[in-house]
Amino acid sequence: MSHTKIVIIGGGFAAVKCARTLRNRLSPDECEIVVYSRENHMVFHPLLADVAGASIHPDSAAATIRQMVPGVECSTKTVERIDISGGQIEFQNEQGQLEGTNYDHLVIACGAESNLGIIPGMSDHSFPFKTMRDALALRSHIIDQLESAEACSDPKRRKFHLSFVIIGGGFSGVELAGEVNDLIRDSVRFYSNFSENDISITLVHSQSQILPEVSPTLRDFALKKMQRAGLKVLLSTRAAAATPEGVGLQDGSLMRAATVVCTIGTTPSPIIQHLEVKKERGRLVTDSDMRLNGFRNVWAVGDCAYITNAFDDKPAPTTGQFAEREGRQVAENIVRVLRGQPTRPFYFRPLGQLCSIGGHRAVAEMFGFRISGILAWFMWRGVYLLKLPSWARRMRVGTDWAWDLIFPRDLGAFTANQSQHVSRAYYRPGDFIYRKGDPASSFYAIEQGEVEILRSIEGAEGYKPFAILGPGDFIGEAALHHSESYLTSIRARTVVRVVVMNRDAFSQHVGTMAPLRDIVAESVKRRAENLWLHFPAAKEALRREPLSSFLDPIPSETLRPDNTLEQAVTLLTKSSNGFLFVLDDQQRLWGVSNGADLTNAAQVIDYKQGESPQNVKNMQLREFVSAEPVTVSSDDSSLVAASTMLEHGLTWIPAVVSKNDRHLKGYIRMDKMSYWLLQQAVEQTNPLVARSQAAAGLANGT
Ligand SMILES: Cc1cc2nc3c(=O)[nH]c(=O)nc-3n(C[C@H](O)[C@H](O)[C@H](O)COP(=O)(O)OP(=O)(O)OC[C@H]3O[C@@H](n4cnc5c(N)ncnc54)[C@H](O)[C@@H]3O)c2cc1C
Repeated sequence: MSHTKIVIIGGGFAAVKCARTLRNRLSPDECEIVVYSRENHMVFHPLLADVAGASIHPDSAAATIRQMVPGVECSTKTVERIDISGGQIEFQNEQGQLEGTNYDHLVIACGAESNLGIIPGMSDHSFPFKTMRDALALRSHIIDQLESAEACSDPKRRKFHLSFVIIGGGFSGVELAGEVNDLIRDSVRFYSNFSENDISITLVHSQSQILPEVSPTLRDFALKKMQRAGLKVLLSTRAAAATPEGVGLQDGSLMRAATVVCTIGTTPSPIIQHLEVKKERGRLVTDSDMRLNGFRNVWAVGDCAYITNAFDDKPAPTTGQFAEREGRQVAENIVRVLRGQPTRPFYFRPLGQLCSIGGHRAVAEMFGFRISGILAWFMWRGVYLLKLPSWARRMRVGTDWAWDLIFPRDLGAFTANQSQHVSRAYYRPGDFIYRKGDPASSFYAIEQGEVEILRSIEGAEGYKPFAILGPGDFIGEAALHHSESYLTSIRARTVVRVVVMNRDAFSQHVGTMAPLRDIVAESVKRRAENLWLHFPAAKEALRREPLSSFLDPIPSETLRPDNTLEQAVTLLTKSSNGFLFVLDDQQRLWGVSNGADLTNAAQVIDYKQGESPQNVKNMQLREFVSAEPVTVSSDDSSLVAASTMLEHGLTWIPAVVSKNDRHLKGYIRMDKMSYWLLQQAVEQTNPLVARSQAAAGLANGT
């Protein structure tokens, strides 16, 4: 046999088992084996819930790959690209350049990535649960919440800190819910400001039963035990959104919680997304021997592969048990190919299922037997202890578990200080971004959607919208500048996405970037002047006057997003207003085009140097007109329209039907409002003069 190079991508169950088996079967003279893994350790996923629940130490649930596979070359690198036709893989080298390496055989075992993007706001406001980093971050966050609840004097806020939601009732969700429940309830005795009754831990599952993989008897047992331990289980309930306040459910209600963990949603690894080979739900479809169809030397195993099990002719499930077995058998098939023997189809008789449910209980289905309760729990621990890669690790985990049976869990929260922090946040219509009087902690830049500035009504409960802000605007800057609490309340009017900068990041960025500093200073000045402070009568008059009094009709000429630059310029030069509305196919407002857009167009043309004049003329409006202008709704007050125009320095603003319906109704002009206000003022001082001025105004057509 000639010297062969086998490259394995991945560092999980499948990759490690494959590398170990290959090394046992083939001598170093026969073949070189290289494992490329993003991390230098293999995560033992079934124990991640124990890490998050602080019942074992993190290093007990991970093992260093190079120590597990002696004689195998291990490279801690992220593979960026697989070039199947060229027979090589590419990764970034120390200098940040792409470097390639060839292979004789390639085993793709890169698993799957978690995908919180399946639910709006989830990636901003929930914890994923897939890696060791996720488990550690979650554990620290949970303990932080206990500390915050202890220090909190407001009972409502305290309950918020003590509310936890776990989404997904599969194995990982159930195990995690059990562990989190144990950690929190066992720890209550160390805190004096709250009791067990203040705690709420909820498992949200979209189907009518948790643990769909196990038998109905065991499922029922698990459900009853979890409920008895104080866990709330919401079945047939779908999470529709996540916000800083908790989880929005499909029926429109909000479950308030300071901690949301999402255990559902996976997506294929980016390196296989671009491979032009047969796939099923993003996974690589293999032949029965785990080779990619049509390739002699490329194999796929584990969660990234779609393999049919010859035992039952069904697709192999994405579990650690199967990944390990696939890893072993793919190694044996490669050895067979190297020795000129025929390969074998993947065949595995599943051993059973084990799931811990907290409270020293588990459910198990092994070799046809069903067991539940404390015996199953000891079995669960025993099986996983034996599956651990070395005796040293087994002894360490065993000691942790024994310790946990006798002594309380460790409540130390050790995280790197994240004082410099920029993140994103998602809000549903009606959610408050902050309320007047909240301590000023963050600066927000609106990326998408509209928010309302709300002022509380004197002598009455509740808020009134005062002005509307949209994409490109920012909020919270005045309070941060003056180190105060927020002066107004801000509420999402539509779905809103914002970039959030905490106080430290804000001071540093605004302090060092002159243009940003100037824009923020200008905004602070504008808002601080409190637009209506010196004009209370005008403010009151506008509050009472319906917006329809000022509504100008939609101009007869409008544009569509796919109109060309040439069409826009021709129409704009004819327009008496100096602007044109851009409406989509359903006649909803898409954008507004004005002279400033021609500057944008000029920049785009500059960027596209070398384009033919015809191509430039045919450039579509959507390439240079900014979409989603700030609007008012026909049900807003005239005061909201006037304040919004003043906030943005506008001379007119489009009016749409409502917050949720962007069909254009017309537009509001500032000069028309000013004239009306002038009339009101004069009428109050001298009704006769007012009437004659009004008549003159009408005669002039104003
Ligand atoms: C919380 C949780 C609990 C679970 N509990 C159980 C259980 O109790 N029983 C069970 O059987 N299964 C369980 N599973 C499922 C099981 O862990 C997976 O099915 C199994 O890990 C899949 O193994 P794998 O080798 O295919 O992928 P993984 O174990 O996910 O490993 C993939 C590896 O590839 C690496 N990688 C990815 N992309 C690249 C790249 N571009 N370059 C280099 N390296 C890369 C990753 O860093 C990782 O090391 C659980 C999963 C989770 C998340």
